[in-house]
Amino acid sequence: MAKSSVLGYPRIGADREWKKALEAFWAGKLEETAFQSQLQDIRLNHLRKQSEKGIDLIQVNDFSYYDHMLDTAAMFGIIPQRFAYTGGVVPLSVYYGVARGTKGATASEMTKWFNTNYHYIVPELNGASPVLTENKPLAAYREAKEKLGIEGKPVLVGPLTFLKLSKGYSAAEFDVWLDRLLPLYIQVLRELAEEGVQWVQIDEPIVVTKLSGDDITRLQKIYGTFAAEVPGLNIMLQTYFESAEHYGDIVALPVQGIGLDFVHGFAGNIKSIREQGFPQDKVLGAGVIDGRGIWKAHLGDKLTLLKELAGYVTPDRLIVQSSCSLLHVPVTVERETKLDAELRNALAFAEEKLDELVLLTKAISSDGVDVSAELAKANRTVETLQQSEARNRQDIQQTVAVISSKQPVRSRPFSERYEAQKAKWQLPLLPTTTIGSFPQTAEVRKARQLWRKGEWTGEQYGSFIREEIDRWIKLQEEIGLDVLVHGEFERTDMVEFFGEKLAGFAFTQNGWVQSYGSRCVKPPVIFGDVAFTGEMTVEETKYAQSRTNRPVKGMLTGPITIMNWSFVRDDISREQIAYQLAYALRQEVEALEQAGIGMIQVDEPAVREGLPLKEEEQAGYLAWSVKSFRIATCTVQDTTQIHTHMCYCEFHDMIDSIEAMDADVISIETSRSHGELIHSFELNTYKLGIGLGVYDIHSPRVPDVTEMTGMIDRALRVLDPKLFWINPDCGLKTRGQEETVASLRNMVEATKQARAQY
Ligand code: GLN
Ligand code: ZN
Repeated sequence: MAKSSVLGYPRIGADREWKKALEAFWAGKLEETAFQSQLQDIRLNHLRKQSEKGIDLIQVNDFSYYDHMLDTAAMFGIIPQRFAYTGGVVPLSVYYGVARGTKGATASEMTKWFNTNYHYIVPELNGASPVLTENKPLAAYREAKEKLGIEGKPVLVGPLTFLKLSKGYSAAEFDVWLDRLLPLYIQVLRELAEEGVQWVQIDEPIVVTKLSGDDITRLQKIYGTFAAEVPGLNIMLQTYFESAEHYGDIVALPVQGIGLDFVHGFAGNIKSIREQGFPQDKVLGAGVIDGRGIWKAHLGDKLTLLKELAGYVTPDRLIVQSSCSLLHVPVTVERETKLDAELRNALAFAEEKLDELVLLTKAISSDGVDVSAELAKANRTVETLQQSEARNRQDIQQTVAVISSKQPVRSRPFSERYEAQKAKWQLPLLPTTTIGSFPQTAEVRKARQLWRKGEWTGEQYGSFIREEIDRWIKLQEEIGLDVLVHGEFERTDMVEFFGEKLAGFAFTQNGWVQSYGSRCVKPPVIFGDVAFTGEMTVEETKYAQSRTNRPVKGMLTGPITIMNWSFVRDDISREQIAYQLAYALRQEVEALEQAGIGMIQVDEPAVREGLPLKEEEQAGYLAWSVKSFRIATCTVQDTTQIHTHMCYCEFHDMIDSIEAMDADVISIETSRSHGELIHSFELNTYKLGIGLGVYDIHSPRVPDVTEMTGMIDRALRVLDPKLFWINPDCGLKTRGQEETVASLRNMVEATKQARAQY
C-alpha cells in the first residue's frame, strides 16, 4: 500500500491568524501565554485538517514562530553575540530580536530560500558555541501525539543545507562546523528514536545545486554517522525545487528513503531514475503534486507517472507526496467566491492539494476502491480551463509567435541614439531623476479605498490623483530635478496595477502566502493569454507632462517582474508568458510615445530572482528575459529614451545581460552593496547610461550632501560622467514627504558640486 505525505503546511492560516497573532504580540497587545496558546491552536488545526483529509504521514515541526532556519539556529543556540543571549532555551524576545532587530542590535540578514519568494534568516556562526537548547522536533511530535493522537513525521533542516546557507565562517572551517553540529543532530535523532518515532524527514534541498566532491564526502559522512549512531530510525532524505545532482551518490546514501521532486525537477529526476533505477531497499518519496503552483494537477497524467515510478519500487515502498512544502501556496480555494467557476475549479491551494494526494494514493494502491469517477472529474476541470477561450487567443498567440521569432532591436545602436537624445533633451551633465514613486501617504490610500468602496466617484478619485500629481510636479521643479515623474499615486502595487488592466489575469480574495516573517503577499494569477486591452498609464503621465516644461518619464513594470511576482499558468512555458507580457507592454510603450512622452522607464527589479537553480539553465533564462525587455521597448524612435530600474546588488554575474537589454539608462540600487557593485563596474566597462543610487531609501534618515558627493565621486572614478545619472536607490513610496524633499534637495546640491568638478 502506497502512503500519502505532505512536506509542510502553510503556517499563516486561512484568515492569516498566524500573522495577526505575531503582530499583536510584537505590538504588546497580546501577552506571551495567550500568544503561545493561540499559536498552538493554529498549529493543531493544521495537523487536524491533514489528518481529517486522510494524509498518512503528517509532518510536525514544520510550524514556526517566524522561520524554520532561525528555528534550527535557535535550537542549536546559534545566536549572534550582539543579542546578549546567555544560554538555555532561546527566549522569544531574543528570537524575535534576531529576526527583526532590537533597539541596540540590528537584525540578522534575510535572504531568499532557494528560488522561492520565501525569505529565511541567515544564521551567523561566528562566535557561537553550539549546544542543543531544546529538542524542537521531539516537542512537536509529542504534542501531535498527545493532543490529537497523530503519529507525526518530524522534519529537520539537514546539516549540509544548514551550513551552506549560514554565514560567518571561512571555507576552511566548514568541516570544523560540521563536526560541532553532528553530535547535536545525533542527540536530536536519538531522542526521537527513543520516543518511538518511525520516520524523520531531513531536508537537504542543497543537493539540487552543484556540489563539490568534498560535499559528497560530507553527505556520506553525515548520513553514515546517523545510520551508525541511530540505527532503527527511518530517515527520509528529502530534496526539492529541482532534480538531484549526483543522483547515484544521493540514492546510495545509507538512509531508508529518498524524496525527489517530480514537478520542478521532473526532467532530471525521471531521466536519472530511468537510466540508473532506484535502490530496492529504499522508500521513494515521489513529489508529484506541485507544492509551489496553484493549479489542480491532471491526476490522470500523475497516475501514469506514479505507475511508472511504482515499477522501480514495490507499491509499499512508494510515498505519494507534494513536491515541496505547501508553505509556498495559499491555504484554501474555498474562500474564493468571486472567481469565474472555470478558473476556480482548476485551482488547488494547500487544502485542495491534500485531497489530490489522498486520491492519487488510493488510485495507485489499487486496493479495490474505485476512484476512477473522481479522477475523471478532476481531469475534466483541468481540461476545461485548458480549452477555455482565455487560454486560446489565436490573435495573441500568432502575433507573439511572429514577434518572438525575430531578435528585437532598436533602429540604431546606443552610440547614435545617445547623440540624438542629447540633442533633443538638452539635459545638463549628470542629470538628476527619481525611480518613480513618491510617498503613498495614509491620505492616498484612504482615497483609493473610498473610491473602491464606491463612496467616491471615479471623477472624485481622479481629481484627487491629479492634485497629488500637481503638488509633486511643483515640488520636483522647486527641488530642481531634471527628469520628473508623476509619482505613481494611482498604484497600489507595481504588478497588481498592470495585472488589473491586462487580459489573462485574475485576483484572489485570500490567496496569501508568507514572504518573510509575518509579511504575506497575494500574487496575481496569470491564468490565460495575456493581452493589452487599453491604455494603462497614459492618462496620468500625460497629465503630469501637461503641468511642466521639463520631461516627465513614463513608468511601467517590465514583463519579467510581472511574471516573477505572479502565480503563472503551467500549461505553457514561462518564456512564452514573458513574451506575451512583453507584447502587451510594447503597446503601452507605443501609446505613451504617441501621447508625447519621450522618456519611458520599464522597471525590472525581479530579473535576478528568477534565475534558475541549475547553472546550465541560467544563460537561457537571461537570454529570453533580455529578449522580453527588448520586445517591450524596441519599437520607439531613436530620440525616445528608454530607462530601466533594478533593485538589489548581486549583479556582478549579470552585467552582460543588463547591457544586452540595451536600455538607454539604467538605475540600480547601490548603497546596501557596500561598494561591491561599483567594484564590479571596475572590472566590466558598462557602455550605456547608468545611475547608481546615491542614497538608501529604506530608512527615514536624511543623508547629507557630503555623503552623496562621496558616492558620486566613487562611482565617477569608474564610470564615464557623460553617461552617469544621479538618483536615489529605489522608489520613495514608503517614505514621508518631509524627509523625501529634504533628501532630494541634498541630492541636487551634491550634483551641483559634482558638476563643478567635471
Ligand atoms: N517605479 C517603482 C517605484 O518607484 C520601482 C519599484 C521597485 O524597484 N521595486 O516604486
Ligand atoms: Zn528598486
